[in-house]
Amino acid sequence: MEELLKWKKIGVMGGTFNPIHTGHLLLAQWAMEEAGLNGILFMPTGNSYMKDKGEMLPGSERLAMTRLAVADRDCFVCSDLEVRRGGNTYTYETLDALRNMYPQACLYFILGADCLFSIENWYCPEKIFRNCVLLAASRDGMPMDKLEAKRQELEERYDARILLMAFPNLEISSTDIRHRCGEGRSIRYLVPDPVREYIFQNHYYENP
Ligand code: NAP
Repeated sequence: MEELLKWKKIGVMGGTFNPIHTGHLLLAQWAMEEAGLNGILFMPTGNSYMKDKGEMLPGSERLAMTRLAVADRDCFVCSDLEVRRGGNTYTYETLDALRNMYPQACLYFILGADCLFSIENWYCPEKIFRNCVLLAASRDGMPMDKLEAKRQELEERYDARILLMAFPNLEISSTDIRHRCGEGRSIRYLVPDPVREYIFQNHYYENP
């Protein structure tokens, strides 16, 4: 990940990625253009302690799929930092580590704008706000006045830096992809082809 030492604006796309899909990739691409980022660091979670573990593939497998998904782009890089760290995954720890690894860069943490309403329940939110700019994607139909009010509230309470980015409403979700696999339906175009082949070869999500 030597190339990241040259990047001045690093996007961080954290996710459970169970599995990674076209919506995640498009969001990253959109964020890169919107904020003029040099590139995106994809960060599969180690243990997403707030998520249902029922259908959760191990971190190593979600990492493998994420690597396949970004393999064809120099400006998309996959990190194993959270998977290697073990224990519950806390975003503040990841941002702390990235701050130390890439002191030359400004970090932009990319997330769905809904998260602005729950991020205060994440571990050490004040440390998250201190170490990054939040790049929050608002989908069509989200009430902009409520989002704007939340943004202002977080900025005043935590001295947070938050950019709101309009993003089209793509009805693609990891949950739906897992259900489709379970029903033997196609996931073509919902995930990159190498990821689709990997899921198929390993019979993932076939028995929910
Ligand atoms: P995920 O389900 O894999 O999704 C990753 C991101 O992609 C989310 O921000 C999600 O926003 C967005 N996304 C998914 N589908 C989309 C679509 N069709 N169009 C646009 N955006 C889409 O991952 P996650 O479990 O939500 O985790 C996200 C990050 O939050 C991870 O880095 C995780 O570690 C972090 N987190 C940290 C804590 C903590 O530190 N305590 C707690 C919870 C989460 P939406 O959620 O709006 O779909």
